[in-house]
Amino acid sequence: MTAIEKAKQGLCELCDSPVHHGPYTDKEIAEIQADIGLEPDELSDLCDDCFLSEIAQGDEARASHYLGGRALQLRKAQA
Ligand SMILES: [Zn+2]
Repeated sequence: MTAIEKAKQGLCELCDSPVHHGPYTDKEIAEIQADIGLEPDELSDLCDDCFLSEIAQGDEARASHYLGGRALQLRKAQA
């Protein structure tokens, strides 16, 4: 499954867990692609656990900041 197919099912690109956003509709995907200049076959989302480890290097405060200030919904207990 490609990243965009996973996004349409509301799954994390990396670990296949449900993402906070939930499944993306074709309309939402088109809007996001237009917004941030992605190609028509590009879009992926990460669950909060992967976002924290892959994007924010384990820094919960930074991850929350990147996510617009919402609390992270983590499945794993953080060390
Ligand atoms: Zn994940």
